Amino acid sequence: MNRTPDEMVREIEILSGQRIADCYQCGCCSAGCPIGTAMEPPPSKAIRLLQLGRVEELLGSEGIWLCASCLVCGTRCPRGVDYARIAEACRLLVLRTKRSVVDPDVVVHADLEDVPQQAFIASFRKFSV
Ligand code: SF4
Ligand code: SF4
Repeated sequence: MNRTPDEMVREIEILSGQRIADCYQCGCCSAGCPIGTAMEPPPSKAIRLLQLGRVEELLGSEGIWLCASCLVCGTRCPRGVDYARIAEACRLLVLRTKRSVVDPDVVVHADLEDVPQQAFIASFRKFSV
């Protein structure tokens, strides 16, 4: 059965332990994100999409996969919203439907030597479901 956007947002809230409505769009998270300029959507925009019920748009984006789970956004948020957990919940929903924009089998082994530690941690969180 297809879920409504409201039901999907609620599931993301349950999985992440975060309240989407708590975000008041100050942008501190996106400003502090080390890859915010490359991430589309950046954290604050991603949360805005959820507030607007545009869940599928976020789940189909590359941004949720680029998040390195470094936790900077959560420490900067004046409302206590931890976007890393929200992105993790979004990735979990996508993986449950067997959709993915990332294929670990095509990662070039030589490239792994330059991967920052945060990326390893992110990989654990992304693929150990
Ligand atoms: S946890 Fe993700 S979204 Fe937040 S600052 Fe780090 S990379 Fe950016
Ligand atoms: S820092 Fe917090 S309140 Fe501000 S836009 Fe990001 S999630 Fe929303």
